[in-house]
Amino acid sequence: YKQLKIQIPKQDQIDDNQDCHLVNKCLVLKHQLYPNYSQKEHQNFKHLFAERLLQVDEGMFTNVPIETIFCPSLVRVCGREYRGGFEGTTIENVNLPNLTTVEHYGFWRCSVKQLFAPKLQHIGYFAFANCSLVTVELQQLKVVENYGFSRCWKLKRANLPSVVQMCAGAFCDCERLETLRVPKLQSVGNTVFNYCKRLRIVETQLSQNEFSCCSWCKCCVVCKQQLHKAQLFGSITNVKELKDKQIKIRHLMLALDKVH
Ligand SMILES: [Zn+2]
Ligand SMILES: [Zn+2]
Repeated sequence: YKQLKIQIPKQDQIDDNQDCHLVNKCLVLKHQLYPNYSQKEHQNFKHLFAERLLQVDEGMFTNVPIETIFCPSLVRVCGREYRGGFEGTTIENVNLPNLTTVEHYGFWRCSVKQLFAPKLQHIGYFAFANCSLVTVELQQLKVVENYGFSRCWKLKRANLPSVVQMCAGAFCDCERLETLRVPKLQSVGNTVFNYCKRLRIVETQLSQNEFSCCSWCKCCVVCKQQLHKAQLFGSITNVKELKDKQIKIRHLMLALDKVH
């Protein structure tokens, strides 16, 4: 609770007969679901305390200036174009241990810096686009739909060991992205690394010719045809292999430096 820096309302402050009520600047939701309920009319809260909430519906908190959330049961964040569940909020720390799905635009244009979602499996269009993430580590994530992490301009490293599908533009315009680990990737859309100028290491089992970019980029690993140089095969299983691969990476970096 303390880690989240959320002011948890005291039990005696929570009115047993009331729901959707404010305690200081904290909105308290008591039930599991709130179908078709928009919080836009109550803009004057900064924290969300929803211990049992399972689903954030589309548009539910769009553009509400929420700073912290406590939703340990949350499974799904719904959304569609410009109606992402948490779209445009000011949440910096997303700590959702039971989250499995973020639909389209779910956290689009948020201030998210830290993302802890160990069960997250599927993210939709623009789900985390334009966020402030620096590193992304999602052990269970399988599908990144179109532009899922695009324009995360602070993002440096992404470790996605279970991802099998990345759709078009998944990481485009991540200008600071250096390392991407997708050892199980099976299918990839167009322009996934469009304008990823600093991307050097991509761990994947796919080959260069399975990636494609657009004619106006010209600066990513695909356009420069450097993917084969910055490529590792399979996944790391033991320490010796890891060391071998680290040596390989160093050699790759040196080789790339010579090219530049
Ligand atoms: Zn979808
Ligand atoms: Zn390119």
